[in-house]
Amino acid sequence: DTQPIYCSGCGIQIQTEDKQKLGYAPASALQRDVVICQRCFKLKHYNEVQDVSLTDDDFYKILNTISEKDALVVKIVDVFDFNGSWLTGLNRFAGKNDVFLVGNKVDLLPKLINRNKVTNWLKFSAKQLGLTPKSVALMSTKTGEGVLDVAAEIDRLRGGRDVYIVGCTNVGKSSFINQLIKQFAGDTDQLITTSHFPGTTLDVIDIPLDDGQTMFDTPGIINRHQMAHYVSEAGLKVITPKKEAKPKVYQLNSGQTLFLGGLGRMDFVQGERTSFVCYVSNELSIHRTKYEKANQLYEQHAGTLLTPPDEQQGALEMVKHEFKITDQASDIVYSGLGWITVKGSGLKIEAYAPKGVGVSVRPSIL
Ligand code: GDP
Repeated sequence: DTQPIYCSGCGIQIQTEDKQKLGYAPASALQRDVVICQRCFKLKHYNEVQDVSLTDDDFYKILNTISEKDALVVKIVDVFDFNGSWLTGLNRFAGKNDVFLVGNKVDLLPKLINRNKVTNWLKFSAKQLGLTPKSVALMSTKTGEGVLDVAAEIDRLRGGRDVYIVGCTNVGKSSFINQLIKQFAGDTDQLITTSHFPGTTLDVIDIPLDDGQTMFDTPGIINRHQMAHYVSEAGLKVITPKKEAKPKVYQLNSGQTLFLGGLGRMDFVQGERTSFVCYVSNELSIHRTKYEKANQLYEQHAGTLLTPPDEQQGALEMVKHEFKITDQASDIVYSGLGWITVKGSGLKIEAYAPKGVGVSVRPSIL
């Protein structure tokens, strides 16, 4: 006999069971005359954009509709976890629309990294993944670096069109939108409204632009390749860098192994003694051991000495990736963890990460 109740802000059906899902409102809110979901409530009263999780289907439905529009697509990625935060298939969803690629969290990269080099690397990597962005920029919504430039570039590139902000969860979409609201909002009550996404029942946040066009913030999705998928909340806190990653240097002979907590492992299989420089969260502990002992160490100590994973999780199923390093300084990138920079020639490396998490090699961005 319970009638469905709909949010008066965005129109989504109200549910009281799952805080992380669309349409959540606390049961007490149902007593009010006007019922709005928690997401709209936060937006209205605190100017805070709250993330909700969607099923893959819902998410791709939203992205699909973008291809039918004439709009600018702003794709945000996390520069500390480029592969893990890449939305595959965006090329298809963007359709003929221009894409502006923005690398966020640039504050986490070592200061000595040349920004142009990072931009070029983003451009190059995007091309390799089949996307040719109209423009590429870096920013940090945390420090504010580059945020206004990105806003100005959006305004230039959109040329009077609507704007869609897309990205998987945790790349900083909400932080970006919230920064924009703070920077540009006069009367924020008037400026921000929630509404239906045209043609779907999913909510998307829209921010009116001064020429009558709209900026849409699409909900994010957890990418299966994100390390976040495989660790507990406490573990995620440990592996997520809070500030610039301090390089940790190890001189290794072949036959030695490094563990990045219990989530990453690097075996130096063959090559002359050389240095390996680790760029990971400063809170993540690194262990050096002998290659022969590595398997046993992992089996016995994953979740305790080698953590995260935590104790309940114990040893994870780790998958091996093999690489040959020629004579170029290279970064072995563990999606969501960071990377190890190594220089040398004829090096043979075996890298392990939890099944599903990507490991790749790129020319060093340093
Ligand atoms: P969303 O899921 O894409 O909307 O991302 P959020 O805006 O919720 O941000 C996800 C996490 O990344 C939060 O813990 C933020 O504090 C953090 N974050 C966002 N932007 C930055 C940034 O520029 N630098 C750093 N270091 N962290 C950031």
